[in-house]
Amino acid sequence: MSQSAAKPAKKIQAIRGMNDLLPSESARWQYFEAKVRALMTRYGFDEIRTPIVEQTALFARSIGEVTDIVEKEMYTFDDRNGDSLTLRPEGTASCVRAAMEHGLLHNQTQRLWYQGPMFRHERPQKGRYRQFHQVGVETYGFDGPDIDAEVILLSARLWQELGLAEHVTLELNSLGSSEARSAYRDTLVAYFEQHRDVLDEDSKRRLTTNPLRILDSKNPAMAEMLDGAPQLMDHLDAESREHFEQLKAMLDAAGIKYVVNPRLVRGLDYYSRTVFEWTTTALGSQGTVCAGGRYDGLVEQLGGKPTPAVGFALGIERLILLLETLELFPDEALGGCDVYLVPMDASTTATALTLAEQLRDALPELRLQLHCGGGSFKSRMKKADKSGAPYALLLGEDEQQAQQVTLKFLRDDREQQRVTQLELAATLRQLLDVSPTR
Ligand code: ATP
Ligand code: MG
Repeated sequence: MSQSAAKPAKKIQAIRGMNDLLPSESARWQYFEAKVRALMTRYGFDEIRTPIVEQTALFARSIGEVTDIVEKEMYTFDDRNGDSLTLRPEGTASCVRAAMEHGLLHNQTQRLWYQGPMFRHERPQKGRYRQFHQVGVETYGFDGPDIDAEVILLSARLWQELGLAEHVTLELNSLGSSEARSAYRDTLVAYFEQHRDVLDEDSKRRLTTNPLRILDSKNPAMAEMLDGAPQLMDHLDAESREHFEQLKAMLDAAGIKYVVNPRLVRGLDYYSRTVFEWTTTALGSQGTVCAGGRYDGLVEQLGGKPTPAVGFALGIERLILLLETLELFPDEALGGCDVYLVPMDASTTATALTLAEQLRDALPELRLQLHCGGGSFKSRMKKADKSGAPYALLLGEDEQQAQQVTLKFLRDDREQQRVTQLELAATLRQLLDVSPTR
């Protein structure tokens, strides 16, 4: 062994594209998650939680073998039994699997929602990660356009509540029935064949696998050719056309603005009829914050009885980024606490602990941090300041004797004052406008 000091071990880092959520950010996520949860309850949606890992075949069979996700983005591995497993790249397939497995689709309708991490091996960049998080909504057993409108209204209310309504646009399209789509597919392929010289490599490959996806290309060199492409909207079957007209009428009646985008096709194979995306121009090229549509064929495709279905998923990271960019987070979403309570001597610590508990009993919404760990007067005050609290309560021997505390205003230029311990809860309630115990 060498005499020299051991080389420090190389630090292990997180996997590229997979982020830690730091304490300084988590309050924002909690704010958003609380909004979502409350909203789902108000619309009568129940939460479903499924495992993060599923059999690979579930995704291959649902999302489609020739989609970007299945072809190149999945985290797939053999477990110790040699079974091929995949970290879920999205939530719909798992949701259908679970609903079928537990008989939730049998003679009943369902309105479900979920939230959690998804995994896709993409090139990490702003708004695009390898572990990201989605909130999703899935409904089963409704074939009319009313439920399409209902889930769109739910999403619209979420934007409203987050202050985002003016910053997002609803894009809408109909993919028609699978029969209409395959007839259109032939027309489209014929058109693309005529313009083969303009197609990029990716599109040439898709010509045989998934030609509709070519419409979604962002390649400017193909823009003009794509503008002239035959439109699915002109090839819809009568029922799908009627469904789409009714949906638009319902959205009009509800005052929801939308743009019909005939080139909106979505990257997953299971959609039929309605598809929609909420987009923003504030996030550069990662502009889709929420996407979904109808997937009437998927349950049957996975071995169940034909069951109409509509859902959407929204990317939480992109939404948080958008709220940050537009500075739409309210103060309460920035974390911190209301009150920092400081025992000034070892002899007042026990009283401070009790007082803190009494305040938490009286004001359940109060965010109170108790100073722990001693230190000099200066360091205690520094910590009080760092806590972000607008108020500090100081408990020295003097105060203890008099059954009082000193109330210090950390953010206002205001004289500190003595408050009796008995009146403290009432004083804080007034200052902070928090509600007392019922
Ligand atoms: P994109 O066109 O941006 O790749 P997508 O069509 O692959 O999106 P969906 O599978 O429909 O997206 O997922 C719904 C939402 O989830 C997207 O609109 C986006 O907000 C979010 N999302 C998808 N992939 C990622 C990712 N790799 N990182 C962060 N968010 C993502
Ligand atoms: Mg994608």
